[in-house]
Amino acid sequence: MTRALWALGVLVQLGVLALVVWQARRLAGWLSPRVRGRVGTGVALALLALVATTVAGLPLGVFRHSWNRRYGLSEQGYLAWLGDRAISLGLTALLLTIAVAGALFLAGRLGSRWWVAAAPALVALGVGYVVIQPVVVQPLFNRFEPLPDTELAREVERLGDEIGVRVESVQVADASRRTTAANAYVAGLGPTRRVVFYDTALDGRFTDDELASLAAHELAHVERNHLWKGLAWFALLALPGLALVAWGTERRGGLRDPALVPLALLLALVAILLTQPVANAVSRVYEAEADWIALEATDDPKSSIGLTVRFSLTGLGVPDPPAWARIMLSTHPPGINRIAMAEAYASGSWQTASRFTPSGSSTNAP
Ligand SMILES: [Zn+2]
Repeated sequence: MTRALWALGVLVQLGVLALVVWQARRLAGWLSPRVRGRVGTGVALALLALVATTVAGLPLGVFRHSWNRRYGLSEQGYLAWLGDRAISLGLTALLLTIAVAGALFLAGRLGSRWWVAAAPALVALGVGYVVIQPVVVQPLFNRFEPLPDTELAREVERLGDEIGVRVESVQVADASRRTTAANAYVAGLGPTRRVVFYDTALDGRFTDDELASLAAHELAHVERNHLWKGLAWFALLALPGLALVAWGTERRGGLRDPALVPLALLLALVAILLTQPVANAVSRVYEAEADWIALEATDDPKSSIGLTVRFSLTGLGVPDPPAWARIMLSTHPPGINRIAMAEAYASGSWQTASRFTPSGSSTNAP
């Protein structure tokens, strides 16, 4: 159901954006005397497109939330849910304003070559976002507390030594206010770097050993600099994406014209959808790598399997999704692959299997 909702949501977004593109000239004419200048008109058009796609997608969002509530994935009320949506919308509006204003400014200065300068600027924006995300963005949605001095805190320290990484900040997020699903993640870079556990992971449903496996997995992400590598991939994928936007708008006279901003957004969405399979495949490789390092650090494949099973159960995940959903949506290897890897570790077959690289794609786990 969530997969069908995702597909439907994408179609709604593409459809609404296409409508705005169709009416862009008229909308720009109406907006331009009301806002200041070329950049102002373009930003206003972009925000209009954002509001239109958000409003059009709202019924699907409400349905999805009711679905989550019905199956016990969320206990959040509708008003609080709407509040979250409003904060997300504000945040997206801010980022969109920066991106569109920047692109229009560069297009005014550099003409058709604007995207060559926009690419490094976008990457810098991405790095800045990852750095401030845990201290500026996340607190808008959750409260954070340092992980209390428990068995788990000592285990995190021990595993850090084992894996060879030191994380100063280990925090607990009050994720239970909107989900019952358990998780943990790494966020931030440099001074803002941290490991965060959902409080839903610490409510007694997971064993201490399973939590150790989870902690080891997150520490492995830190040790392998997966956030930095993810940003490098973002830089690589942003180039052809921006080139597509530049090519499409240049055919209509170039992005100096603010009326082409909706078309630029539509092309950007297409570029995101086209590069999504690559980004997901990269993510799955890093997840498999973190799983493997965690197995070596804990030497406890049984708890690793227990963790995977319990994640699937508490998050109502599909252990074996269909291929298209895996390609478009799966940032993590399917549960059955993660279990297969833990079993391979347990049996030691990876030591004899020829040409099996533990950091490779999870699909080649024997
Ligand atoms: Zn992970």
